[in-house]
Amino acid sequence: MKAEILAIGSELTCGSRLDTNSQWLSRELESLGWTVARHTTLADDLEAISTEIRSAPQRSDLLLITGGLGPTLDDLTRDAMATAFAQPLVRDPDAVRQIQDLFAARGREMPQSNLRQADRPRDAQTLHNSCGTAPGILLQVDRSDRQSPCLIAAMPGVPAEMRVMFEQQIRPQLPESSVALCRKVIRSFGFGESEAEQRLGDLTARGRNPEVGITASEAVISFWISARAPNRDSAAELCLATEQEVRLRLGDAVYGDGDTELYEVLLQLLQQSSARIAVLEGAATGGQIGLWMSADARSETVLHEASLVRPTTALADRQQPQDSTFEQWQDQVRSQCHEYFGSHAVNGILLSSGYFDEQQPSGVIVRRGMVAAATPDEIQFRDVSMSGNLRIFRQRAGRTAINLLRLSMLHQIRP
Ligand code: AMP
Ligand code: MG
Repeated sequence: MKAEILAIGSELTCGSRLDTNSQWLSRELESLGWTVARHTTLADDLEAISTEIRSAPQRSDLLLITGGLGPTLDDLTRDAMATAFAQPLVRDPDAVRQIQDLFAARGREMPQSNLRQADRPRDAQTLHNSCGTAPGILLQVDRSDRQSPCLIAAMPGVPAEMRVMFEQQIRPQLPESSVALCRKVIRSFGFGESEAEQRLGDLTARGRNPEVGITASEAVISFWISARAPNRDSAAELCLATEQEVRLRLGDAVYGDGDTELYEVLLQLLQQSSARIAVLEGAATGGQIGLWMSADARSETVLHEASLVRPTTALADRQQPQDSTFEQWQDQVRSQCHEYFGSHAVNGILLSSGYFDEQQPSGVIVRRGMVAAATPDEIQFRDVSMSGNLRIFRQRAGRTAINLLRLSMLHQIRP
């Protein structure tokens, strides 16, 4: 069953407010087995809104609308619904009473303009708003080409009011979905988006069930597996089979599921093997690794030290970096680690260099930096240079270092 969501308000289209209602409603609908195929955001414009509402039943079985139900002249959802289906607006006596009661309860006189909020298209039903003055509107639209009508529900824009109205009055009226959805998110680090897609091959084909979507955020690539089946168990089974295939094709790049962070996985591994580490960060990660880890209570047993360290002389001079800059840093890291393992009871060290910006002949500015992960047996270095924003550079550098240690611990556990 297909649904779509329409968010109304010029404050949304002009960018002063983010449409969070559509996100929330989509999650609710998806969890009920609906497929949300379209989000639309429109300014307070009668013509545009009524055109959109009129066309929805041709595409979808359900249209959820938020916003535009206030008392002011720019709140046009009621008028647009009436216009769309050529119905007159009628004033609903129950709704009038509810609005009057609400004002009386607040000890305020009701402005006449609030009566507009009791209007609804002739064949619609008013939905009581238990938290505010704007009632919602529910309208069933018959479709000549299909057996079932399209359900259209308009709710207030205020997120708290919208949620209560959806949960209490709209969700119970939705037709039971004949499709169960099972969704799983798998997170990976180390591949780029295109590389990951290449490895997954046919798994990411559109129209496949389960569908596999790929998103990238702060260098973490997530795979969204959505399986649809007649019941929950079959959907879960389908989902699991694809999850196993994704894990097989991506190997150790997969580090967790849901919204697990890489540092949590590392802390878990360290705790399991009673290991302790030190984190010695230069400006390339700028304390990011320590910040992540110290937010987790496990760091108290696992983290021996987390410090910001002064860059080497070469890296301190960001104006005149040398080709040999990182070689010098690597040499320094080797002796530093040797000394550190000799004098502290730790099993691993994460390090990052300073950074500097280098202009390429093409004009692109590349931020250069390096990270290292050391165990008593080996030190691994990675160049984490990239162009772009400092925050993302640092997060990617931090995750690269954490991932190196995660992989080397995994190989120790199962060589
Ligand atoms: P309205 O029902 O259009 O009078 O909207 C009332 C208020 O709810 C607006 O001023 C916004 O602050 C908020 N709002 C409206 N639509 C949304 C939306 N899609 N997402 C989040 N907030 C919204
Ligand atoms: Mg509005």
